[in-house]
Amino acid sequence: MTRTIDSKLPDVGTTIFTVMSHLANEVGAINLSQGFPSFDPPEELTDRISFYLKSGANQYAPMPGVPALREAIVAKTARIQGRTLNVDTELTICTGATEGLFSAITALVRRDDEVIVFDPAYDSYEPAITLAGGITRHVPLLIDDNGHDFRPDWDRLRGTLNDRTRLVILNFPHNPTGAILSQDDLDTLAEITRDTQCYLLSDEVYEHIVFDGEPHRSLLGHDELWHRSMVICSFGKTFHATGWKLGYCAAPADLTEEFRKVHQFTVFTVSTPTQHGVADYLGSHPEFYEQLPRFYQEKRDRFCSLLEGSRFRFKPAQSTFFQLLDYSDISDERDADLAVRWTREIGVASIPLTVFCETPFTGTRLRFCFAKDDATLEAAAEKLRDL
Ligand code: PMP
Ligand code: GLN
Repeated sequence: MTRTIDSKLPDVGTTIFTVMSHLANEVGAINLSQGFPSFDPPEELTDRISFYLKSGANQYAPMPGVPALREAIVAKTARIQGRTLNVDTELTICTGATEGLFSAITALVRRDDEVIVFDPAYDSYEPAITLAGGITRHVPLLIDDNGHDFRPDWDRLRGTLNDRTRLVILNFPHNPTGAILSQDDLDTLAEITRDTQCYLLSDEVYEHIVFDGEPHRSLLGHDELWHRSMVICSFGKTFHATGWKLGYCAAPADLTEEFRKVHQFTVFTVSTPTQHGVADYLGSHPEFYEQLPRFYQEKRDRFCSLLEGSRFRFKPAQSTFFQLLDYSDISDERDADLAVRWTREIGVASIPLTVFCETPFTGTRLRFCFAKDDATLEAAAEKLRDL
């Protein structure tokens, strides 16, 4: 018997990351699509997790997270962003950023509330908004005259905000464009939201991967913005461990209380030995995340220099481990079609940008992940240079 389910998410298929990685594996292509490093976390960190696995830290952790991990995050945040979070009331460990985002959206968004996202928008936001009964409003990022840099369109945000706006979702450092925020951006956002009732959800999973000497400007570090913000981070990016699904949500106490009401019934707690291991390592090895910008900047520069002489147009990414390549001098195909064709025919998989947009304004650009060993980057660039 066949049946038709009245889906709560009729327009949602399988994520582009799963689709492209699956295709890359199927045809044996170099996979620069889904964002994950081809290298391991530091050995001392995996040793600490093994230690806890083997010494009995295998039962439920406290619902907000292992205290030692929360303390290590408080210390890091105080040092880098100048804000000392209350370890008991302003921080919750969650199952990767994905759970943090989902719990935050579920906790805040009510039926018919409007939520503003900036396109291209990471793909997990809108389904969570829809499930919560909310309505997603898309504001495209602006593309600079140079054709490469993306930045928030504050005038459009101002024009889209209204009494029904419950939440604005931000993601800087931005996946997939690498855009970052300036101090002026933060001040403008504060000014725009000052007399409104809306909250801010800031996805900062690439907090430690910002290049060319720029700092990461967190909403956490801005006194006025902090009071209306939930900030979500992930150790998956920071420690080359996307498979651990370990992240956190920092928010003022009243927002954290709402966040935990949902978190406790989605996952309740997060893997105990992983939390203990990361707590030890995070506290004792700040040099690991401090060297991350240099580490990834070298990868970015290597990938970009390998592509010199190719027919792609690009400007080195300002942050994240993704490089955008504009293929308009090579093809006029739709990005989604081209990403599939090149995976099959050229043997390099990438991510199209228009799938993250309500209108296809990002046009002829593909995203390539450079969190890979040199041999992989060289092999991919060789194929891309031939196009
Ligand atoms: N937000 C953004 C912008 C991401 O790029 C990712 C994953 N790469 C996530 C959220 C999800 O993070 P996690 O794997 O920790 O759930
Ligand atoms: N965030 C990762 C990316 O941008 C993918 C995460 C996923 O596969 N859901 O590539």
